[in-house]
Amino acid sequence: MTEAWGPDDEGPRPHPGPVRVRVPAKINLHLGVGPLRPDGYHELNTVYHAIGIFDELTARRGDTLTLTMEGVGTGELALDETNLIIRAARALAAHARVPAYARLHLRKSIPLAGGLAGGSADAAAALIACDMLWGLGMSRDQLAEVGAQLGSDVPFLLHGGTALGTGHGEAVSPILARPTAWHWVVAIADGGLSTPAVYRELDTLRDSSWPPPPLEGPDQLMAALRQRDPEVLGAALGNDLQAAALSLRPQLADVLKAGHEAGAIAGLVSGSGPTCVFLAADAGHAQEIAAGLNAAGVCLEAVTARGPQPGARVT
Ligand code: ATP
Repeated sequence: MTEAWGPDDEGPRPHPGPVRVRVPAKINLHLGVGPLRPDGYHELNTVYHAIGIFDELTARRGDTLTLTMEGVGTGELALDETNLIIRAARALAAHARVPAYARLHLRKSIPLAGGLAGGSADAAAALIACDMLWGLGMSRDQLAEVGAQLGSDVPFLLHGGTALGTGHGEAVSPILARPTAWHWVVAIADGGLSTPAVYRELDTLRDSSWPPPPLEGPDQLMAALRQRDPEVLGAALGNDLQAAALSLRPQLADVLKAGHEAGAIAGLVSGSGPTCVFLAADAGHAQEIAAGLNAAGVCLEAVTARGPQPGARVT
C-alpha cells in the first residue's frame, strides 16, 4: 500500500498541476481467442501494438473530482461515475488512501467503441496523471495492478510498445524486438461495435464447430516482427474476432476490399472492430492507401499512424 507523502519525506511530492498525459490507441497484431471460461472471460493470446492516435488528459488540482471533455464522442460519452477516467481516479485514490480530488479534462481523438481500446487508454492516462498530481510515486507495474481491475487493456496502455498479452489480456510482457517503425492506415468507422456483443457473436459462430478451435499462439507473428519486413509481418497478422465483427457489420468487408485495392500489404479488423487497420511499406505508401480509402467512401475517415508508440506518458 502506498502512503501519501508528508512534508518531510524525501521523494515524490504532490504536483501543483496541470499534469498533461498523452496516451496512444492499441491494435492487436495477433488476437487468438480461446473458449469462454467459467469466470465469463475468454482466454486470450494476443500481441498488442500501440499506434499514433492519441488521447490527452490534463489533471489540475481541485477540491472534488470532475471530468470535462472535448473532441471525438463529446456528448455521447457519459462523464459521470461510469466513465473509466473517473473509475480509474477513484480506484487509485482508494488504493493509495488519498482523497480523489482533481479537475480532469479529456481531449479525445481515439474513436469510441472502435476496437482501439480508447476507454482503457483514458483509464491508463488517468492513473499516470493522478499518480503525479497526488505525488504517489507509484511504479508502472503498481499502476497496472490497479488498472487491470478496470479493463483488460489498461496494463498494456501503461507500458505501450509491442507486447504479448495473456490471461484475458491483462498479463503483459514486452516484446524486445529491435525497434522498427511500422506504418499503418486506420479506417475509422461511422459508429462503434460493442465488444461484449462481438465476443457473443464469436461464441455463437463457434457453437456449430466441434471440437472448439485451439487457441492459436503468436509464434509466426513474433518471428515476423524479428524479420522487420512488412510483407512478412502482413502475412502473419490475424484476428479471431474478425469473423464475428464481419458477421455483425458485413459492410466491413467493403472496407477491407477497398484497402486491398488501394495497395495495402495486409488489412484486418482491429480487436473487436469496427475500425480496420492496414499495413503499408512506408510513410508515403500509407498516405496513398489512406487517400484511396477516403476516395472509396467506405469509412468515416482513414488516417495514417505509426507504431510502436510508448504508453501513457506525461508530456
Ligand atoms: P475494447 O477495449 O473493449 O476493445 P473499444 O476500443 O471497442 O473497447 P472503447 O472506446 O474503449 O471501445 O469503449 C468501450 C465502452 O467503454 C464505451 O462504449 C463506453 O460506454 C465505455 N467507456 C467508459 N469510459 C470511457 C472513456 N473514457 N472512453 C471511451 N469509452 C468509455
